Amino acid sequence: MSDRRAELAAGLARVHERVDAALSAAGRTDAPTLVVVTKRFPTSDLDLLVDLGVTDIGENRDQEAAAKLPEVAARSGLTVHFVGQVQTRKAGSVARYADVVHSLDREKLARALDRAAEREGRAIEVLLQVGLDTAGGRGGAPAADVPALADLVAGLEHLRLRGVMAVAPRCEPPRPAFARLRELSERLRSAHPGATAISAGMSGDLEDAVAEGATHLRVGSAILGSRESHG
Ligand SMILES: *Cc1c(COP(=O)(O)O)cnc(C)c1O
Repeated sequence: MSDRRAELAAGLARVHERVDAALSAAGRTDAPTLVVVTKRFPTSDLDLLVDLGVTDIGENRDQEAAAKLPEVAARSGLTVHFVGQVQTRKAGSVARYADVVHSLDREKLARALDRAAEREGRAIEVLLQVGLDTAGGRGGAPAADVPALADLVAGLEHLRLRGVMAVAPRCEPPRPAFARLRELSERLRSAHPGATAISAGMSGDLEDAVAEGATHLRVGSAILGSRESHG
């Protein structure tokens, strides 16, 4: 086993242990989907992760993802999650490789992604990114705008509304913020029963996310190591 492979295996094992502990603390038996965020790490790491059994990977920059993913996804049947901000003019590129877009936060992007998915002859699953940061700055639609955005997305032929996503705010502990996301998810589901996904939790706060019902965790550095040494 190469050193890097052993490192990634150990990172995955540690994260699975943390998730399992958080699940039992929360009295949950439904394991969330672990999206391994591979941004700024090379394709060779992606290959090793797939070999170690990873089925869901995440990227946050179109330029990088467009270069790295097509060959990897084509040979492994991976589910590719796009978790970063999407510029409207990049929708066409993202639609080529992303199976799930976690960061849909505005009408213009919804319409652009729908048209792009149509051109690709496929459907894209989307989560609505909610801004939990009262001071702003980490992206996402204001919570008050989510119901209207959800109705719009549900009416677009090539998008599938799956749920909500958020990044923990900077100036508040994550748990109460994730609790607000969960309440919003519950309200959303009364109008859109299929929108069951809650994407929350990263390397530093996955326990809080599991406690508040996250169905998708987006974990990078706890598995792959620090991104600083990778530019
Ligand atoms: C980078 C990133 C992650 C993973 O962050 P880590 O702290 O490395 O686990 C999760 N979500 C989004 C939106 C990201 O950009």
